Amino acid sequence: MFFAVQRTISATLNFNVPADYCCNCGRRTADVDLITTPLRQVRSVLFYGEEIRLSEQFPFCKPCRGSAGRSAFGWPGKLLLIALNSVILFGICIGLLPSSLPHAINDNLYSLNLILAVILTLAWFHQSEKIVQGRTHYQPVRLREAHFKDDRLRQVSLAFHNRHYAQDFANANAEAVKARVLLISILD
Ligand SMILES: [Zn+2]
Repeated sequence: MFFAVQRTISATLNFNVPADYCCNCGRRTADVDLITTPLRQVRSVLFYGEEIRLSEQFPFCKPCRGSAGRSAFGWPGKLLLIALNSVILFGICIGLLPSSLPHAINDNLYSLNLILAVILTLAWFHQSEKIVQGRTHYQPVRLREAHFKDDRLRQVSLAFHNRHYAQDFANANAEAVKARVLLISILD
């Protein structure tokens, strides 16, 4: 980010929340609890940054609870992690590999490290982004956009991993959906 956050808006949403099954994996179990879920968005215009921090309670079963606040990595975060891993790998290679390596490897050590870091990091992301038993490792409810007028919420757009839960959430807040105060979509 090349800007500093200059304004932060915090608000608690108060929608009707269907709470009888997990909003991530969709399981109906006795251990489903309402968990406060942080919903965050950072917007920037040139050097001006604005951060919106909303929260709402959503139902999670025990194995899904950790996903409530786990943000997914965007491409800037992924690239940063690749760069970081390549530096770490380079340091390990310098420390562990014998100095008498063949020239072809020695001359291209950093390039080889970078390729290895890209492969390993993308493999890790691929693994962590897998949907297992209907469950996503990262937040199953995310904030796409929120608009305020005079510090009052005018419109909020939420994206859901679980299509069935998204439909039930829309039904439970039909008036807000109709008034376009609440927009609902499905995560890619
Ligand atoms: Zn679950």
